[in-house]
Amino acid sequence: MGAVLSQGGKPITFISKTLNKTERNYATNEKELYAIVWALKNLRNYLYGVTNLEIHTDHQPLTFALSPRNPNPKMKRWHAIIEEFSPKFVYQPGKTNVVADALSRLQLNHLSNESEDSEHSAQSSENNQIQETQKPLNQFKQQIILSKNRFTIHELIKIFGNKWHLIEYDTVENLMTILKEYIQPKLVTAIHCTVEDLHEIQEALKQTFQNKFVFTKLFPMDIINREDQSGLIEQTHNRAHRSYNENLKQIEKLYYWPEMRKRMKEYIRNCMICNKNKYDRHPKKIPIGKAPIPKKEGEQLHLDIFYAQKLKFITCVDAYSKFLILKHIEDKSNIEEKVLELLQTFTDVKQITLDNEPSFTTPTFKSLMQRLNIEIYFCDPRHSTTSGQVERVHSTIIEIARCIKEEYDIVSNLETVLRAAQQYNTTIHSVTNFKPNEVLYNKVNHENLPTTLKQAQEKMLMFHNKHRTDKQYHPGQIIYEKIIGERNKLQSRYKKQQVKENLGNNIIINNRNRIIHKDNIKS
Ligand SMILES: [Zn+2]
Repeated sequence: MGAVLSQGGKPITFISKTLNKTERNYATNEKELYAIVWALKNLRNYLYGVTNLEIHTDHQPLTFALSPRNPNPKMKRWHAIIEEFSPKFVYQPGKTNVVADALSRLQLNHLSNESEDSEHSAQSSENNQIQETQKPLNQFKQQIILSKNRFTIHELIKIFGNKWHLIEYDTVENLMTILKEYIQPKLVTAIHCTVEDLHEIQEALKQTFQNKFVFTKLFPMDIINREDQSGLIEQTHNRAHRSYNENLKQIEKLYYWPEMRKRMKEYIRNCMICNKNKYDRHPKKIPIGKAPIPKKEGEQLHLDIFYAQKLKFITCVDAYSKFLILKHIEDKSNIEEKVLELLQTFTDVKQITLDNEPSFTTPTFKSLMQRLNIEIYFCDPRHSTTSGQVERVHSTIIEIARCIKEEYDIVSNLETVLRAAQQYNTTIHSVTNFKPNEVLYNKVNHENLPTTLKQAQEKMLMFHNKHRTDKQYHPGQIIYEKIIGERNKLQSRYKKQQVKENLGNNIIINNRNRIIHKDNIKS
C-alpha cells in the first residue's frame, strides 16, 4: 500500500507499507479506507493547515463507508480521522492513479514481510535480497536515499540537511559506481527508496555490496517546528513519565529532527513530576572526607548508645587504641554524669565524635564538654562515616556475644555482652594489629600506630570514594531533597528546593536555612 503527497502535480513525499496479518484480512473497501487513514496519519505533518486537500483514489464506493451512520466502530474512528482534514475525494480509476497503484502491487509481490512490528525483521524474509529493517533511516550513521528521477525528495533533505545523501542515477550500473564512492567500508548503510527502485537494484546491490545495505520503509516524519517538537516530547513523556530510553524508542520510529535525543534528555531531566516522584536509580554519592588521625591513646573518642537484648549501654571507643568501654545503664537520665565517669579512663581527651543520638545533643551535655575543654564533632545523622567505626564495633560485639553465649553456655545477657567487650579488648584488632588493651596500657611499642591508622584511612577512603564525586551547587539552583521518614507510598519522594549556599558535604536550602547532606539530593 502506498501514498504520494503531491502539490501542483509534483510529488513531495512518498510513503509505503505492507499490510500486517490483521490488515490483510480487511474487506476490500476497508483496505482502501485504511490506506487513506494511514496516509493521513503519516503525512499529518505535511498537511498542517492545508485547506483544500484532495484525495485521489481508484475506489469509488467510499461514500457510505464514510457516512457517520455506518455503525462499525472502526469505521467511525476512521471517519473521525479523515474528517479532521475535510478532504475532497477525487475518483481516479486504477490506470490513471499509476504511482500509488504500482507501489501497492509491487510491495505485496516482492516485499511481503510478516513481522511488521518485529525488531528483528532485518533477518527475516528470504525473498529480500537486501535485508529489511524496522529502524528508520535516520538511525543509521550512513544514510542514502536512492532516486531514479521518480520522486523528489529534495525538500526533505533541505529541512535539516545534515546526514542524508540523495543519490540520483540513471542505470543500475552507474548507480553501483556512484555507491562505491559513497559507502564507508565499516558501516551498514540504510537505503530508502521506492519499492520499484529496490526491486530493480536488489540483485546488483547484493552482488556489489554483500551485507552492506539494509532497506527501510520507515521514513520518519520530519518535525520542523520547534513547538511541535516540544509537543511531541511532552506527549510521549507525560503519558507515564517513563525514562529517556523508553521514550526514545517510542518517538524515534515516527519522528525526526536534529538533536532530538538531546532535547528529550533535557526535558526529562527537568521534569518536575519525575524529579519529585521517582527513585534516584543511580545516585551519585559524594566522597567521604578525611577524619583527623589521633596521635595518642584517649585523645579522640567515639560515643554512642548501644542496645542489645533490651539492655542499654553507653559505648566509648578510643580511635587510637580501639579500646572499647561498655557501660551498662538502666536509662538515659543523667547521661552527663555517666559519661563523665566513663571519661575517667582516659587522661587527655581532646575530641569526641557523636552520632545524632539525642541524649548527646542536649545543651547540658554540650556545656559539660565545653567545661572539660573537649571538642564535639557531629557526624551527619544519616551519614555516619566517621562514626562508622563505632557501628562496626557494635556489630563485632554482637557477633562475639552470640558465639561465646553458645560456647560457654552463659545464661545472663548482660554478662554475655560485657564478656564479649572484654574479649574484644584482649584480641588483636585487624587495623592496628595490636590488642586494644595492650595499646591503651602501653604494654607494647606502638610508635608507628599513627602511620598505620593513616594508611588504613587512606585505603578505606580509596575504596569507598572510588565511584564517588563531589557535587557542586550554586545559589539559586533548583534541587530535589529526599523526603526522609515514614511516607505514604503514593506520595512524592522528593521535595523541590532552592540552594542558598554550598558548604563542603552539605548545602543550605532557603527553607529556614536548613542544612542537607549532598547525598540526600537529586539534581
Ligand atoms: Zn516526567
